[in-house]
Amino acid sequence: MKNPINIFWFRRDLRLDDNIGFYEALTSEYPVLPLFIFDTEILEDLPKDDARVTFIFDALQNMRTTLQKEHGSSLALYHGKPLAIYKQLIKDYDIAAVYSNHDYEPYALKRDTEIKEFLSKNGVGFHSFKDQVIFEKNEIVKKDGNPYRVYTPYMKVWKEKFKTIDLKIFDTHSVLKNLVTNSKLPNLSLPDLGFKKASQKIADYEVTPSLIQDYEKNRNFPAQDSTSRLGPHLRFGTVSIRKIMKKAIAEKNDIFWQELIWREFFMQILWHFPHTATESFKPKYDRIEWLNNEDQFKRWCDGTTGYPLVDAGMRQLNTTGFMHNRVRMLVGSFLCKHLLIDWRWGEGYFAEKLHDYDMASNVGNWQWVAGCGVDASPYFRIFNPTTQIEKFDKDLKYITKWVPDFQKSTYPEKMVDHKEARLRCFETYKRALD
Ligand code: FAD
Repeated sequence: MKNPINIFWFRRDLRLDDNIGFYEALTSEYPVLPLFIFDTEILEDLPKDDARVTFIFDALQNMRTTLQKEHGSSLALYHGKPLAIYKQLIKDYDIAAVYSNHDYEPYALKRDTEIKEFLSKNGVGFHSFKDQVIFEKNEIVKKDGNPYRVYTPYMKVWKEKFKTIDLKIFDTHSVLKNLVTNSKLPNLSLPDLGFKKASQKIADYEVTPSLIQDYEKNRNFPAQDSTSRLGPHLRFGTVSIRKIMKKAIAEKNDIFWQELIWREFFMQILWHFPHTATESFKPKYDRIEWLNNEDQFKRWCDGTTGYPLVDAGMRQLNTTGFMHNRVRMLVGSFLCKHLLIDWRWGEGYFAEKLHDYDMASNVGNWQWVAGCGVDASPYFRIFNPTTQIEKFDKDLKYITKWVPDFQKSTYPEKMVDHKEARLRCFETYKRALD
């Protein structure tokens, strides 16, 4: 007879420390088999040298090595559709329960419901915990129980509620003994997954006291590169949000703290309104007659619009997988408003390229830029791509770095005239919204 075990299923929480679901599994009755599934449904759409896949792979190998060297255990890696993998696992092991952390994206919710039902039919429990946010789902809602659609009141209530909780850090290391003692669990290589090591590398994050203190002063200037680079680390859970939140609060800098709250705001929006992954939150905006010119879209993607700050942002994205937030707002506005290209095209391009791509934040911010989202930028707010340079890159440092051909004869002419495009945008939006 096989001995009963519990499984801990890692997903977007790739760390051993301060991981709530993992902690709960380790303090349960049975030894824990740590596990990760490279989901073919997710992988099949990605470029074969995707930096995010390499990042996930490396994080898992590091965890696996720690578990092997320090705990006589390991981390089992599988590749396939989660349901098919679980069908096999219940044959290979006597599983009492599967533990994991909540994942709120529409695909993940569907996947987890399917797995939970399958396990339940086979007498196996499925326990999931809140880990990647401080407040989730229905925890911050209006007095009448409806979700907030405007950020500022959400943020205020978030802060009030935060004062009432004891933000505990889960010391997983102290309970890491309760693991399955088998250091030869299945492993995989990147080629086994059909991928190769990416040439782009996901940057390390930095959350020093001085970065947080000076955040407000520096954050708007793309040449300074003075933001935390936390995005991908929060996305894949290589850092705990609780630890970051503690640091943010210790420095008493409201603005940095509030950026982290924007992340949770958009997560609860996607959870309450999952249709906004593909449809405008304000339905009227789906009546806009987008021009969707493919040649113009290509010029935007390539960073050859003739507007140097837009081009610098797109070239930074294409080269590094990152773009400064200030420039993301400008390139987004330029695409939707100057070129009248559907926000979903831009959202899709960012999803492919951004190392910190996260559906809730990407969709939320794109809808903000296009004007069609909750608490969105009003449609008549059209960034001027030239005056933005005077405000945020006055000495042209960022532009010169990413667009060295700027001011050379080879640099493209402006693809649209700002004044004409602005007028055209007003008219088109007005027609749809009136
Ligand atoms: P910092 O400025 O150091 O901020 C710290 C953290 O706060 C970020 O890592 C992020 O988790 C959170 N944060 C900051 N600003 C926002 C915001 N506006 N919305 C939500 N969370 C925020 N962010 C993503 O994480 N994934 C995306 O796919 C994404 N797509 C975007 C698309 C557009 C069109 C725009 C305008 C913004 C997008 N953002 C997205 C938000 C923001 O640009 C990035 O979070 C930020 O630039 C990442 O850099 P950083 O980690 O150095 O952030």
